[in-house]
Amino acid sequence: MVSKLRPVRGTRDTWGEEARRATHVVDCFRSVCERYGFGEISTPIFEFSEVFRRTLGETSDVVSKEMYTFEDRGGEEITLRPENTAGIARAYVSEGMQQYGVVKLYAFGPMFRYERPQKGRYRQFHQLDVEIIGAAEPEADVELIGLAQTLLEDLGIAGRVHLELNSLGDSESRAAYRGALTKYFKTFQKVLSEDSRARLERNPLRILDSKDEGDRQLLEKAPHMSDYLNAASKAFLERVRAGLDEIGVAYKINDRLVRGLDYYTHTAFEFMTTDLGAKGTVIGGGRYDALIGQMGGPETPGTGWAAGIERLAMLIAELPALRRPIAMIPLGDAATLKASAIAYRLRGKGWYVITAFRGNLKKRLARAAKNKARYAVILGDNELAKGVVTLRDLDSEEQKEIKLAQLETELTAEP
Ligand code: ATP
Ligand code: MG
Repeated sequence: MVSKLRPVRGTRDTWGEEARRATHVVDCFRSVCERYGFGEISTPIFEFSEVFRRTLGETSDVVSKEMYTFEDRGGEEITLRPENTAGIARAYVSEGMQQYGVVKLYAFGPMFRYERPQKGRYRQFHQLDVEIIGAAEPEADVELIGLAQTLLEDLGIAGRVHLELNSLGDSESRAAYRGALTKYFKTFQKVLSEDSRARLERNPLRILDSKDEGDRQLLEKAPHMSDYLNAASKAFLERVRAGLDEIGVAYKINDRLVRGLDYYTHTAFEFMTTDLGAKGTVIGGGRYDALIGQMGGPETPGTGWAAGIERLAMLIAELPALRRPIAMIPLGDAATLKASAIAYRLRGKGWYVITAFRGNLKKRLARAAKNKARYAVILGDNELAKGVVTLRDLDSEEQKEIKLAQLETELTAEP
């Protein structure tokens, strides 16, 4: 006997309406990515731990406390992917993709983080992911934000989110800002949260992302990134802004916005919502020009974003209607056998057919109605003997007897 007959904390079974929502998000995403000329990539769900540790940053929450890391039977240190960018960057290098110039990729699938579960936050969750690798141009960032906006429009939720944009600058700007932040927070070292005190030494930018209330208050008077951007970083941001203005995507500059992972440079952005309670980021991304070099690959710029499928799915008000099926309703043993064959044939030719294996006529008709069936095909043993079936229009409630051989022609008129 299994002693814990339930999913592991932070994981969930997805089915019914919820599964349809998630699938709808992925279908829309795929369609948008194809329109933007992106190709699909699927990378393994686990990688050598170093792939994440070296790139996401030792001080990031993800690496310091959220990774599912284990030693496999061969003694390799393995981590279940907490995000997809590092794996895709690894694939870019191992698959020799630099030969293709600019590479535009999309991916989706499960990610794993050991977090405190709550609404919209799970230990196994699912992300959509897009990356442009090999393009240092700000237009690549604009295209990716445009792609996100198109997706939100297609999902019918663009009105429920807003875009916040920041620049984390190039390495020179970041070093200058880092110095200023360190100086500022040093004076408050005693009151900083324990986590942030550690961040102060190793990565003070990370403090901007602190969720500690005390830290957040100190942040109000902290130096602003925008005052430390050098000319090149400023120009890059201006170009991204001009691109967004030109396509008509609205945004708000938030110069406190940092992303949870270390690899970002220049552009950082989040699409947020106030409709999901406290935790409102649905899409987050930015530029990562140092990531691939840091990994040991050729210096290659990159930019991308990830979206939480569960969070997008929750925001959708109404799913598109399902195609209406035909309900097969046999009554009697011989008819049941024949009905299976009719259903099989219809399905093979592209019709949507539902069957139930038991119940009287009334119950089966009720079930057909519940499934919004368009027609019911009713056949009893007598009808079978005559080679006919009763075709019932479930909208008009009219029914007629037709020859079995006539069934497909009659159904052709169906929407
Ligand atoms: P948060 O601030 O919510 O922890 P994050 O900065 O860690 O987010 P990213 O690493 O940027 O998140 O991931 C991109 C998106 O993936 C998030 O905006 C969110 O929609 C989704 N996401 C991240 N972590 C989880 C999780 N544990 N459960 C569900 N969705 C998640
Ligand atoms: Mg997080």
